[in-house]
Amino acid sequence: MSRKVTIVGAGTVGEAAAFNIAIKNICDELVLIDLDEEKTIGEATDIGHSIAFESDTEVHYGDYDKAAGSDIVVVTAGKPRKPGMTRLDLANENADIIRSIFKNFKTGFENTVFITTTNPMDVMNLCAYKTCGLDRRQLIGFGGWLDSSRLRYVLAHHLDAPHTSIDAYVLGEHGDSQVPVFSQVYNDGEKVEFSGKEQAEITEKVRGSAMSVIEKKGGTEWAPARGIYTIVQSIFNNEKRVIPCSAVLNGEYGLEDVSIGVPCVIGRRGIEQVLEWELSDEEREGFKEAGEKISAFCGEACVI
Ligand code: NAD
Repeated sequence: MSRKVTIVGAGTVGEAAAFNIAIKNICDELVLIDLDEEKTIGEATDIGHSIAFESDTEVHYGDYDKAAGSDIVVVTAGKPRKPGMTRLDLANENADIIRSIFKNFKTGFENTVFITTTNPMDVMNLCAYKTCGLDRRQLIGFGGWLDSSRLRYVLAHHLDAPHTSIDAYVLGEHGDSQVPVFSQVYNDGEKVEFSGKEQAEITEKVRGSAMSVIEKKGGTEWAPARGIYTIVQSIFNNEKRVIPCSAVLNGEYGLEDVSIGVPCVIGRRGIEQVLEWELSDEEREGFKEAGEKISAFCGEACVI
């Protein structure tokens, strides 16, 4: 059966995600939608030229009619942060963009799985869910994989260990109140304990990871793109892999009507299960605070 992916917002993150998906030959068709038609046609053609030795994916510019029937739609449209901004500073402006985009996903998108990347991602994922009215399991908010990858990078340097021997996750907000799960960090299968001071220093570094890149090169690109591909792969291959993603909760972790980073089993239908991990008292408190913070912003930005 033919496989189709659409990316809405072919800017820095969208283009890098498009390249990562196209080069892997994981879908037959990759549709790019953006307000800037000329540039997007150029980007699609450039990616097409880059993959011809390795992949048969047809990459082209399109609209919502062309996108209908997509297995997966990745939304990366919207304003990015500038130095000094928090993700939440983008809430109102990007909520207008998310609403205008998700209004288009009615007929032809009944079985599509959506990956929302636009910041503040947790707030935008709930806004997307309320706008399109699809099953909450079809709405995956992307950010927890990236925060967890950044945590693994920081921990590998802290412990002088290879990145790939670290097992560690970040839950909660994709933003300043993110919750690194220190109670479940492993290095080469061995549990690692951290002092309060170490935890504070590591959390600070991980929280500032994206801004340290934005200040130097204007925006993050390769890291989110790689994570988006990982989720696309997990959906198409029905991997049932546990990936921290923002999910619209309905009682899990004692929360509802909020989208927040939780461990999700990702498979062909999207979020197949939300796992309720046992957290330390401190982590549970941090998670609850993050939920309240996101909810406050959702109240303002997610009015449909
Ligand atoms: P960018 O400015 O390079 O690209 C955004 C693109 O969206 C532009 O090409 C623009 O034309 C397009 N766009 C705007 N409104 C549109 C609409 N209504 N329909 C179609 N296209 C539209 O920005 P970027 O650096 O690619 O970042 C995009 C978003 O992703 C930002 O909100 C950023 O904060 C967020 N982001 C999230 C993560 C994450 O982990 N969740 C990581 C990086 C960036």
